[in-house]
Amino acid sequence: MYLPDFDYHSPESIDEALSLLANLGSGAKVLAGGTDLLHKMKQGDLAPKALVSLKGLDKLKGINYVEGRGVVIGALSTQNDILYSEVLAKKYPSVSHAAKKMASNQIRHLGTVGGNIVNAVPSADLPPILIALGASITLVSTSGKREMALEEFFVEPASSVINEGEILTEIVIPDGDLTGSSYHKFGLRRSGALAVVGVAASARVAGGVIEEARIVCASSAPKVIRTPKAEAFLAGKSPAPEVLEELQAIVESEVRPRDSIRGSAEYRRNLAGVLAKRALVDAVESGHGLPAED
Ligand SMILES: Cc1cc2nc3c(=O)[nH]c(=O)nc-3n(C[C@H](O)[C@H](O)[C@H](O)COP(=O)(O)OP(=O)(O)OC[C@H]3O[C@@H](n4cnc5c(N)ncnc54)[C@H](O)[C@@H]3O)c2cc1C
Repeated sequence: MYLPDFDYHSPESIDEALSLLANLGSGAKVLAGGTDLLHKMKQGDLAPKALVSLKGLDKLKGINYVEGRGVVIGALSTQNDILYSEVLAKKYPSVSHAAKKMASNQIRHLGTVGGNIVNAVPSADLPPILIALGASITLVSTSGKREMALEEFFVEPASSVINEGEILTEIVIPDGDLTGSSYHKFGLRRSGALAVVGVAASARVAGGVIEEARIVCASSAPKVIRTPKAEAFLAGKSPAPEVLEELQAIVESEVRPRDSIRGSAEYRRNLAGVLAKRALVDAVESGHGLPAED
């Protein structure tokens, strides 16, 4: 469990970090909180020749509301930064709630939202709620900058559209007219456990009718996925018991879970449907607030 040898670079600006990554090529990895990367290196799964640490880059930190853009979350914001953010508490407490469901205090103190996204594991807790809220991301490299919807970032387990030499700099939750959102996670323990299944929901509700909804599932397919049939079904409905029963059936038909040590495919499929109902009800009833049982 020792780390292999590597060169450590601590750039003082984003431009310096990007130049380093461009010059070092495929032998280099970006280091944020290190909770995944250093673990993989200790396990012998990865042996990068160089690590380019983002820790000194203050421009990648902070969670702010920017008029005309929305809530801008620096990629180096930790899970605890998200949990305790006053901006998120006011605008989207469901995002803080998702962070609260993650790992332990020690890991939350180090692990960043950027690492949680770039890691691209299907069980990650922050992407579902960020996708439900329509978040976009910015990737920069020495070749320029590109922005995309977060939901377009993931390809398959541990694989995304990020290119060598790119840094994820920020996540933006745009201003919009969604009236509520929530995240429900089922783990094998109440804390410190990865999601057996996680489901985020967001909704725009007027006069008790759902005008638009998003249902986003983690640990239910090879990547975090939206459920388009369920979302289309919900438009124009109210969350009556019979609607929720049908929602569960549709979500169960859309997810593609696999058997794993955390649960069988069949169990996870059922769980995704059940959590979708709970997440939707909370999104509709409690605005962007915390689920009723918290
Ligand atoms: C005990 C334990 C419990 C955990 N529990 C949970 C949990 O409950 N829920 C959950 O979702 N996750 C969990 N995790 C996983 C992990 O903590 C998170 O995914 C964390 O957010 C990763 O962020 P990091 O800053 O540590 O990433 P790092 O380990 O530093 O990096 C991870 C990967 O992302 C790349 N990277 C990081 N930041 C950037 C960037 N800005 N631009 C480009 N590339 C970047 C790195 O090169 C690396 O490939 C757990 C991990 C541990 C060890």
